[in-house]
Amino acid sequence: MKILIVEDSRANLLVLTRYVEQYGATVLPAENGLSAVEAFERERPDMVLLDVILPDIDGFEVAKRIRGAEGPGDWTPIIFLSALGKDEDIEKGIAAGGDDYLQKPVSEIVLSAKIRAMQRIIQMRTSLVVLARKLDTANQELKRLSASDGLTGIANRRFFDEHISREWRRARRSANCISLMMCDVDHFKLFNDTYGHQAGDDCLRRVAGAIASSLERAADIAARYGGEEFVVVLPETSLSGALIVAEKVRHAVHGLNIMHSASSFGRVTLSIGLAAAIPEVDNSYEALILAADRALYHAKHEGRDRVCRSDKMPEA
Ligand code: GH3
Ligand code: MG
Ligand code: MG
Ligand code: MG
Repeated sequence: MKILIVEDSRANLLVLTRYVEQYGATVLPAENGLSAVEAFERERPDMVLLDVILPDIDGFEVAKRIRGAEGPGDWTPIIFLSALGKDEDIEKGIAAGGDDYLQKPVSEIVLSAKIRAMQRIIQMRTSLVVLARKLDTANQELKRLSASDGLTGIANRRFFDEHISREWRRARRSANCISLMMCDVDHFKLFNDTYGHQAGDDCLRRVAGAIASSLERAADIAARYGGEEFVVVLPETSLSGALIVAEKVRHAVHGLNIMHSASSFGRVTLSIGLAAAIPEVDNSYEALILAADRALYHAKHEGRDRVCRSDKMPEA
């Protein structure tokens, strides 16, 4: 432990240093106020013993400057040691940022007891800081978990619902086109029936991965909409731009080469419905989802493993 002792009397400084060094603490001596503040900033001691009457700025001012130099959330105990013992002096010392105020001459026993008490507070404070940090990490993890799908690890439905509403409002403000892709694994019930539910789960994980890694822009988001359905939101993207992404996604799933003997394609494939809109007062993102859903229905109806776009929503 490093203790900054601010004391202009050499004799007092020597006595205090001897007291403090008995407990294995390292002493940083300062004989005036300005050099004390400088030593504090340079050495960041664990505790400060502070005289009030000093040749330059007084101890109250030193305490204020030390408090000003501390980082946000930091705290270094300051114990005033002063010949001034009036109630107002004590009040002034505490108001200036001091944590305790002892009147000189200070007995070795009282000083060591006060230092021990401060050390106890430092330790409690340190454990609180550690706890707060752990809590913060746990909260972040919880937030991440509450937004992600347990099976595939991509965003979940809850996240999508909030995200689309946010992106829709953003697109309205900027009068930008927003595109939405509704993806559905073809003949997935047959896949489960043929290979079992476990293999079905593995397949969904890989399909989700293929969809997510086909997206290049940071703002593009893939989410599991439910079951074997996935949704992709493409902000600031026109229908023609979204078509390129959709084909890329479809190819990526095709390229996984997951065997599906019960499908006429012989492998796992994806059907995709596409819709785009510029948000206006008379349309909503629910209508965009519905339009993408309808397009998906057409993709299924026309034979699957394909992309269909909605002609109901305005194209940018
Ligand atoms: P289509 O080509 O028309 O989309 O046919 P499909 O069989 O994929 O569609 P359907 O909606 O009839 O079946 C979806 C299947 O997806 C039914 C269900 O067993 C399966 N499924 C949904 N969620 C999960 C899941 O989390 N894991 C697994 N293994 N299967 C799932
Ligand atoms: Mg003095
Ligand atoms: Mg489905
Ligand atoms: Mg399906």
